[in-house]
Amino acid sequence: MTTKVPIAFVKNNLKEKAFVKNAEQIISEIVVDDHFADGLFRIEEQKFLDVIFGFDRSDDYQLVTRIFNGETRGVFASRSPHRPNGMGITTVYLRERKGNVLIVSGLDALDGTPVYDLKPTDFSFYRNLEAVDDSTLSRPRFNIEKHISRSESRALLQQAGQLHGHYCPGLALGVLAAMHGMEQFRHLSDGMEDLLAIVETNNCFSDGVQYVTGCTFGNNALIFKDYGKNAVAICDREGKGFRIRARNDMRAVVDQLFPEFNRLFEKVVVKRDHRPEFKQKFRDISQKASFGLLDIPFDDLFEVKETKATIPDYAPIEQSLVCEKCGEMFMASRGHKQNDVVICNSCLDIRHPFLDGYGIHCS
Ligand SMILES: [Zn+2]
Ligand SMILES: [Zn+2]
Repeated sequence: MTTKVPIAFVKNNLKEKAFVKNAEQIISEIVVDDHFADGLFRIEEQKFLDVIFGFDRSDDYQLVTRIFNGETRGVFASRSPHRPNGMGITTVYLRERKGNVLIVSGLDALDGTPVYDLKPTDFSFYRNLEAVDDSTLSRPRFNIEKHISRSESRALLQQAGQLHGHYCPGLALGVLAAMHGMEQFRHLSDGMEDLLAIVETNNCFSDGVQYVTGCTFGNNALIFKDYGKNAVAICDREGKGFRIRARNDMRAVVDQLFPEFNRLFEKVVVKRDHRPEFKQKFRDISQKASFGLLDIPFDDLFEVKETKATIPDYAPIEQSLVCEKCGEMFMASRGHKQNDVVICNSCLDIRHPFLDGYGIHCS
């Protein structure tokens, strides 16, 4: 074992205190010593790095320490810089490599801090460990609840984008409206119809609502009223709750901040000009506009009113029947008897309502 020498030093604006609330917004340089520069070969292919560094300005340690929110904890249950071996480890985002300088986001280390090692972060470890963590097994929405309680709208929008497939102002509005509604219910939603979301549109807005509230098409905690309004009521089983509606002038707000958005929306979505260069531009501005909306004061975007909604009883558990025409199993209420023969709705020659981009209607 060789003695430990720093392989690099940190350069940033943090002069005194490295604990910062939005550490991801700090940009630092990790300047690697020429002697070790060959070890950076192909590092730019990595997105995330574990940075192991030394707390060179803390020469003492306390086994029991006070953390940032005033609570007392053991040093090994904290990220305190006052540690027996004075070592810190942080996962950072690698923005760029310029020769032997790495430009990273999210490093909570002071200017001049010695760095002892760099490794690509292996998220498969995290995912596997997460899978054995019982707290997310018993509470699948644990992480979403955490984000809502900390008002982390960026993280929620980013995750809602995984469901929705793209970022757009409608999705962002749905996320914001749902976050506001969920705050009244201590962020808890069990997907068992005890918390309900009544959405009034089948557009992007409602996907933001589904993601954040956990009231979805599949768990019957989502009620759809085909009014074509960017609005949602979030209620308990008694129907008590709040209706949150996007203001009429919300479009003007978007237009003022991102004038390109409406112009490209018109071109790509309304006139269906799908030339790749326009689609790409639209995607970019749409993403910028949706994240930009998160910084606008809530009251400029929404109107909130207390509401008392009528909530149906819990969804019935139905018997399953087998259609004598197609042989497929279906819910008993979704079929009829015709001359003593059980037939499913899809085999019956009558019009049934269905939901698509045009709303609820009959074929
Ligand atoms: Zn959308
Ligand atoms: Zn059938």
